[in-house]
Amino acid sequence: MSNAIFPGTFDPITLGHESLISRVACVFDNIIVGVAAGVHKQAVFSLGERLALTKRSFAGVDNVQVLSFSGLLADFLREHECRIILRGLRAVSDFDFEVQLSHINKSLDVRIETMFLSPSSEYIHLSSTVVREVAQLGGDVTKFVSPHVAEALLRKI
Ligand code: ADP
Repeated sequence: MSNAIFPGTFDPITLGHESLISRVACVFDNIIVGVAAGVHKQAVFSLGERLALTKRSFAGVDNVQVLSFSGLLADFLREHECRIILRGLRAVSDFDFEVQLSHINKSLDVRIETMFLSPSSEYIHLSSTVVREVAQLGGDVTKFVSPHVAEALLRKI
């Protein structure tokens, strides 16, 4: 069985996340989408809301499970007997931080491997931050997120 964990903040989940996760779900037997409880940025959605929105995005996809986690990602992996972390690399600006993170996780548990994925070209510039900003300024986010997320943003902001 090949399992992998795709961790993130998902504040909120975008079409970029959904596209990447759907692609890897065709490659691995099981994907766990890990919604991080601790948010270093100013979050718009609570953990419960981020979890519910992300779950809805993958409702009906049998091999994608959405769970929340708090604490160390390395512990979350161990708990689920998983050793692969999947992360997207959108731009060079993501690179330094992501490589640093992968080394930290490796030093916490040598069995952990981080795999980097290239987003689909149409979503390469898309981020949750941009979606939040457009929504906060009254812009249309339907090109960036699924309808249930757009509705949640409208209600929230
Ligand atoms: P974090 O705050 O941990 O970076 P995010 O929810 O912003 O969490 O992102 C989770 C993962 O999804 C990261 O690996 C990120 O690179 C990736 N990602 C974010 N936006 C996109 C996108 N538009 N296309 C593909 N992958 C993305």
